[in-house]
Amino acid sequence: MIALISDIHGNLPALEAVLLDIERLGGVSAIYCLGDVVGYGPQPAECLDLCARASKLMLLGNHEHALIYGAYGFTAVARRAIEWTRQALERHPSRQGRAMLDLLETLPTCHLFDEVMLVHGSPRDHVMEYVLESDTWDGAEPGKLEGIFAAFPRLCFVGHTHRPGIFTEDQCFLASDEVGDGFDVSDGAKYLINVGSVGQPRDKDPRACYTVFSGTAIYYRRVAYDIDHTASLIRENPRLSERLASRLYKGE
Ligand code: ZN
Repeated sequence: MIALISDIHGNLPALEAVLLDIERLGGVSAIYCLGDVVGYGPQPAECLDLCARASKLMLLGNHEHALIYGAYGFTAVARRAIEWTRQALERHPSRQGRAMLDLLETLPTCHLFDEVMLVHGSPRDHVMEYVLESDTWDGAEPGKLEGIFAAFPRLCFVGHTHRPGIFTEDQCFLASDEVGDGFDVSDGAKYLINVGSVGQPRDKDPRACYTVFSGTAIYYRRVAYDIDHTASLIRENPRLSERLASRLYKGE
């Protein structure tokens, strides 16, 4: 079994709770991180350090990309958080922060094994493109999902939207709470699986989210964590917007 985590966003209590849950679950041979370890949250250096140690592989997310190359296309709130994150890493007392920035520049945007692709955003634009539930609706951009499904072998795991669920080849989206306990993907069809967000879920469930893949089935895991702790660190930080704290309680 492997575990897939994504979009931690500087939320250390959420990451610690997820890693503990993985340990308790047992049988997980490797953890893959699909990016956005930083951004929005108050403990970017701690999350990068822990994630780098716990994961077999870390991919580049759009927030890491923004740290290195500039926060283009970000909202004002997200951009301010990235600017603060960069300063926090550059001025980190242990000098480990500087090493973390160097590490980010080496992260791959995509990883392939067997018939599986791992990316942050989408198989055809690894870092930036969003694959959205609304892409399955009437009136969606013509050909978008066909193009996305043509760009990966059989299974593709993504993060980025913070909305866990499974896209099927016939253009349905199954939200993680509809999937139940174990969604079989051994039928040879193609699936694109959004693993959800550890540190800032946006599906109205505030618990940290991650995914386990057994080789034949997908399992979604939700883990309660100390939201008060993260929210108070955000509120103590004048460079981080209050909204980044309040949304954690609502899962939005
Ligand atoms: Zn994200």
